[in-house]
Amino acid sequence: MLIVDGHEDIAWNMLTFGRDPNRSVEATRALEQGSEIPVHTGQALLGWPEWVAGRVGVVFATLFAAPIRRKVGPWERMCYRDPEEARALYLASLDAYKRLTSQHGDRFKQVESRRDLAEVLATWEPEPPVSPRLGLVLLMEGGDAIHNPSEIEGWYAHGVRIIGPAWTGTRYAGGTHEPGPLTADGHRLLQAMAERGLGLDLSHMTEQGQRQALDAYPGVVLASHSNVQALLPESPTPERHLTDAVIHSLAERNGVVGLVLYNPFLVGGWKPEDGRAGVTLERVCAQVEHVCQLTGSARHVALGSDFDGGLGLHKIPAGLDSVADLRLIGDALAARGYAPPDVEAILGGNWLSLLHRLLPET
Ligand SMILES: [Zn+2]
Repeated sequence: MLIVDGHEDIAWNMLTFGRDPNRSVEATRALEQGSEIPVHTGQALLGWPEWVAGRVGVVFATLFAAPIRRKVGPWERMCYRDPEEARALYLASLDAYKRLTSQHGDRFKQVESRRDLAEVLATWEPEPPVSPRLGLVLLMEGGDAIHNPSEIEGWYAHGVRIIGPAWTGTRYAGGTHEPGPLTADGHRLLQAMAERGLGLDLSHMTEQGQRQALDAYPGVVLASHSNVQALLPESPTPERHLTDAVIHSLAERNGVVGLVLYNPFLVGGWKPEDGRAGVTLERVCAQVEHVCQLTGSARHVALGSDFDGGLGLHKIPAGLDSVADLRLIGDALAARGYAPPDVEAILGGNWLSLLHRLLPET
């Protein structure tokens, strides 16, 4: 079994905190001990040995920056004041991945095509793998770096394969904390994305925007990191989670939902002082179960951990210590009676099927 994670902000961590994804989680934690970093973002969850130990072979790696109006502290470096700065920061994220894959090509490989994907998957075949490589599928989270839909061409050429138009609100769509529909520019963006064959990430969009996007977009659709709203009645940000209607529509379009392993998205209203113990893997299983029941299939739910996306060890479920432990979710599902092919699909196979539909041959 190989695990695929639908959402990891690797570049953001490199550029904001100087984290090196080659280091082990333990080494990063030791290095940052006593510094401000764990205070701002929590203890690290991602690192090369942990991806390998956990058999995490492919991740959707984000390009991400935030508008300055959402800046939470002076430590936050990836914030833009205008579209020019947004473009510069998203290009810096792209450069971070290019550096990683060129300087450590024996470990990291950008996945732009089915051929790239096959190459990565083959490195995991001997068990244990001899020289595994982590495949990075580039996902642009928030569309403000795109000034004109014609620029999609350039981002595609750089290897971006999935775009989520919103984070908070952007010129393209309303988003978290900033409600709104898909805008006229958003419709133009989707048209350009569809012509180029990109995947559309609905995470962070409002339900209204998601419905409009599902109607308008003919291509591959997904929610890289979103949970089930129906299970989170106490959530202070219900609009951040998917309604049953949207999950249903996504499944009808053969889309996939990646579940976020962030405690407030598993227990509505959870706060760090509540402690991790109350958030067990049963909560994750309940999310999986809901999507499976609703869609009548185990083919539309997967993982989109959002690990190190502004959250660290103290905000993830009890029983998980790092990305190496994602496989424990498979064990929990198996204990609930999920058959091995379903567990495999949920932990990786569903994302791989989506990538097969999304990526060009070469
Ligand atoms: Zn996000």
